[in-house]
Amino acid sequence: MLIDAHAHMDYEQFEKDLDKVITSAEENNFVAIISNGTGPASNRKVLELSKKYNIIKPALGIYPIEALEMSDEEIDEEIEFIKKSNPLAIGEVGIDYYHTDVKEKQKINFIKFIKLSKELNIPIIVHSRNAEEDVVQILEEEGAKKVLMHCFSSGKKELAERIEKNGWYFSIPATIVRNKTFKKLVKRISMDRILTETDAPFLSPFKEKRNEPSFIKETIKKIAEIKQLTEKEVEDQIYSNYKRLFSNE
Ligand SMILES: [Zn+2]
Repeated sequence: MLIDAHAHMDYEQFEKDLDKVITSAEENNFVAIISNGTGPASNRKVLELSKKYNIIKPALGIYPIEALEMSDEEIDEEIEFIKKSNPLAIGEVGIDYYHTDVKEKQKINFIKFIKLSKELNIPIIVHSRNAEEDVVQILEEEGAKKVLMHCFSSGKKELAERIEKNGWYFSIPATIVRNKTFKKLVKRISMDRILTETDAPFLSPFKEKRNEPSFIKETIKKIAEIKQLTEKEVEDQIYSNYKRLFSNE
């Protein structure tokens, strides 16, 4: 049973053949594709898709860079919309210092979403790019418990250890097949902290190819190799991690 804990099925790259992509995921024994909203329009599309396809689960949020283009009132309005929409998780939210120098405003917005996830008692799916230290520190200060670090690419051992110690999770992208940082990370962290993701349509494990949930199989193979487990053992463990983090018990 496979899990894609972070994808963007509402993106235009899937417009033409989403039925086919979902059928292929179903045939590959997927139980969940968590589709992350990146702003108001995207959140509505994600909700629509989650009603149409059983295996698409909605995570709602505002991508940190998109949030910088919105007023405080617009952000608060969207947060109210999210509260009423009963999502599985909050995401995609976080902090990104790669695309902008704006720091303080991003931190303020991120804290709003951490508080929202705590209020709703659902996981928060976190984007951090060149901002890993700040992200971990803010999550700790805010007392976040249900945290999924999406595509966490800081190679710092100390940060990975802190995340593990806090009981949070990492979702490993399919690009692990050619990325040393993720291979190292998987080696370092315990199997019960690991989930799989694609970030589809982005981050394909194959060059020049649109990414899709089915490519998670490549990630499973790689994790099995690194952890010296069978693919079935890896799948089962990830499924049980998924249930532990996402079932609201
Ligand atoms: Zn994403």
